[in-house]
Amino acid sequence: MNLNQPVTYIKGVSVARAELLYTELGIKTCNDLLYLFPFRYVDKTQFYTIKDLQQNTSEVQLVGRITSIKTVKQKRGSRLVATFSDNSGTMELVWFKGAKWIKDNLKVNEPYVIYGKLNWYNNTPNMPHPEMELVSEYKKKLQSAMQPVYPSTEKLTNKGISHKIMRTMFQNLLQQGFESIEEPFATTFRNEHGLLNKKEALLNIHFPKNQELLAKAQYRLKFEELFFIQLQLLLKKLINKSKIKGFVFEHVGEYFNDFYNNHLPFDLTNAQKRVLKEIRKDVASGAHMNRLLQGDVGSGKTIVGLLTMLLAIDNGYQATIMAPTEILATQHYNGISELLEGTSIKVALLTGSTKTKRRREIHEALEDGTLHILIGTHAILEDKVQFKQLGLAIIDEQHRFGVAQRSKLWKKSALSSSDTEGVVPPHILVMTATPIPRTLAMSVYGDLDVSVIDELPPGRKMVKTVHRYDSNRLGVFKFLKDEIEKGRQVYVVYPLIQESEAMDYKDLMDGYESISREFPLPKYQISIVHGQMKPADKDHEMERFVKGETQIMVATTVIEVGVNVPNASVMIIESAERFGLSQLHQLRGRVGRGAEQSYCILLSSFKLSSDGKTRLKTMVDTSDGFKIAEVDLKLRGPGNIMGTQQSGVLNLKIADVVKDSPILYEARQVAIHLLNEDPNLSKPEHQRILKRLLILQKTSGIWSKIS
Ligand code: ADP
Ligand code: MG
Repeated sequence: MNLNQPVTYIKGVSVARAELLYTELGIKTCNDLLYLFPFRYVDKTQFYTIKDLQQNTSEVQLVGRITSIKTVKQKRGSRLVATFSDNSGTMELVWFKGAKWIKDNLKVNEPYVIYGKLNWYNNTPNMPHPEMELVSEYKKKLQSAMQPVYPSTEKLTNKGISHKIMRTMFQNLLQQGFESIEEPFATTFRNEHGLLNKKEALLNIHFPKNQELLAKAQYRLKFEELFFIQLQLLLKKLINKSKIKGFVFEHVGEYFNDFYNNHLPFDLTNAQKRVLKEIRKDVASGAHMNRLLQGDVGSGKTIVGLLTMLLAIDNGYQATIMAPTEILATQHYNGISELLEGTSIKVALLTGSTKTKRRREIHEALEDGTLHILIGTHAILEDKVQFKQLGLAIIDEQHRFGVAQRSKLWKKSALSSSDTEGVVPPHILVMTATPIPRTLAMSVYGDLDVSVIDELPPGRKMVKTVHRYDSNRLGVFKFLKDEIEKGRQVYVVYPLIQESEAMDYKDLMDGYESISREFPLPKYQISIVHGQMKPADKDHEMERFVKGETQIMVATTVIEVGVNVPNASVMIIESAERFGLSQLHQLRGRVGRGAEQSYCILLSSFKLSSDGKTRLKTMVDTSDGFKIAEVDLKLRGPGNIMGTQQSGVLNLKIADVVKDSPILYEARQVAIHLLNEDPNLSKPEHQRILKRLLILQKTSGIWSKIS
């Protein structure tokens, strides 16, 4: 049997059933079905007796005979009740549907093996809709110790595709198609990596002979799945490197050197130096750079970005940096302008609120090349914004930018658009403080290069983090007064969740009022910033806080990303249990930026979910962004982590990037090793891997979906 044929080729699969399998589970071919794996197994090695049934056993298997059948009328319709007994006692079997067929086919006084869930009524068990099989039939079949249970839907069950029928279908499929199962791995390869052969793996995933073989089958299939994903990602990276040309920033010139020697206000950390080296190697190579720069909040990514921009300018190119919010873009602009004071480098800021006249000036200066660096929000992506020669685009806090937006950057440069033949895109550096757990970085962003700044600038003090209940609020306020007395500034952040926006604004305003009462004018000045304010008002309030004119900043999460006020030393997070972990971590990163000891106080109500508790405890226990990201990934699953929506494209059938991370590492190492040894997969022993890869590329489309 050819496994690419439709499922109707399987014995017992009618056109109607095939149609159902397609509409309900998306299954078309025999191969699709072969890769529909059981989501659990029931252990049918054990037989129970009626006398020993316990209320807490969910599904049981018994042997006995039906002694009588009767139809019982009820309000609507009727039910069929059979009395079933073994040597130890009797119980009832009940059917609410299909009574006629069952009544006609059940054999009274013949031994049956029955299996199903128990219902308890007045301490007496009964079994609705049992699976039944004559003992004579049961003995004939190849019985495996464990029975698979497949994902099903209500419709499938209602239309008569029961678990039992599913199992028969799989038995037939494995019998008819067994010989056609193709093994992509050579025997030596399998032995080397401890992999079961493919046929045995598929047989045992559907009908495990025992727990041990099931575990081996799972390992083999997970390994194969992850291995081929890694292989595709690694190959894509190799091909990008050789095919996509990049501008060459070959020399380090006057701009870079002058800044480095005369304007850089501190020494770079070793981690910053290392990352800069990695970047310089990329941009000098002639290939296109597509690099992700990860570094915890405050690790000093901006300066690395700036130095890379200077490198671009030294080689005759322009550079741009995009930030997700106006506040952050403005802050970058101010910070970078200050750093570049006394140099001849021209910098401009472009955001949604840039006035038309200024906008026009910027457009012109970009096109004639007199403007070196453009800093802004997504306003930069507008078609009107064209550069003379954009050589480098830096995207800060990447998770807010989509893949589509990123690709817009490719068409920004006059250099590349004039020559449609060989489009040379600007080098891309994505900076993020949301650490992407290694497992995800590998599986989803496996085609990007990743640099990590894993060291904070010297002299930083750990932010002391505590969890307090709302009832401690007065104590917290007292603490704030003491800190403000010492000349520090304070953030008070409220959640703002889209679904409960109106309520959240009310909480924010109520909170603002109570803080205003507790911290009265003129002794205390309070800023407030939230998303419903006009940008100009927001900026004004923000600026008052940055300048130190106000001591308290009441805000929603708009200040989450990037805001830098070194004198602020306390972060209060209201209803902290409602924030996600990465958000909490970002918010905490707003303090601890100066020399003073800083504090983060997580306020919550007494009512906490278990996830909520874990989140708060994690924050109190650690400040390591990567550890926090791993916990976050465990709590939320890969699909929900910010910026990794793409993980859905992996469409994994059996592996789980979180739970199976050890297998993922192993598979990646093996794939790297394989490509080192045989980059074109041309050796005879790799032919079957190549063949499988080509099929996958045609069908899974991972290439086009991952940017
Ligand atoms: P992030 O990685 O969160 O974007 P920033 O680039 O905003 O961090 O840097 C945080 C602060 O640390 C800034 O005030 C910056 O000037 C400072 N900084 C960066 N690198 C160093 C360094 N090597 N030594 C001392 N301070 C540094
Ligand atoms: Mg930053």
